[in-house]
Amino acid sequence: MNIINEDRIHKKYFKDIEDQFNRKVEDIKEIVIHGTGGGKSARAILNWMLAGERAEQYKKGIALFHSEIDKNGDIYNILNPLYWCYHSSSGKHDKYTIGIELVNSEVDNKGSYTSNQYKSLFEMIDAYLGLFPIASIVGHGYNGKKFSGKYKNCPGNFDWNKLQKFLIAEGFKFNKADNECYELER
Ligand SMILES: [Zn+2]
Repeated sequence: MNIINEDRIHKKYFKDIEDQFNRKVEDIKEIVIHGTGGGKSARAILNWMLAGERAEQYKKGIALFHSEIDKNGDIYNILNPLYWCYHSSSGKHDKYTIGIELVNSEVDNKGSYTSNQYKSLFEMIDAYLGLFPIASIVGHGYNGKKFSGKYKNCPGNFDWNKLQKFLIAEGFKFNKADNECYELER
């Protein structure tokens, strides 16, 4: 697994507005898991983003995310978590979230995620739980339903049992508030 710090998206779309999206460590309370619902690889998706089809949204901090995990487990860091952005159909609630995208090449996130993706995701979650006061781990669809009444199949074909097993193995206590929402007792 490699960690790639990719600042081109930040520089191209976010630099001019970043001051509006500053936040403090204590604001970072939730991890939101996404599937990309298309795209061959992390790099292909980055190239598509840089090509600018959604430039107007990106320049408002919309449809961005913090990290992307490729099928081989490589992690691409796009935005520093000390900035927030709109990514989970939850409006200003995203001020408190970190968005992690897992590459899924199929429409509606119907494809399976790889064991390397789960491994990297759980390593990231483990690290973030040490750095930030994360109180919940949810799917994008869950936040969409809760905050804007719009459920989305995102991360779709994600095995939440694997997350549950990871949390148990690491000794975290949690409440499963929904199929796609784990509230942590910390
Ligand atoms: Zn999503």
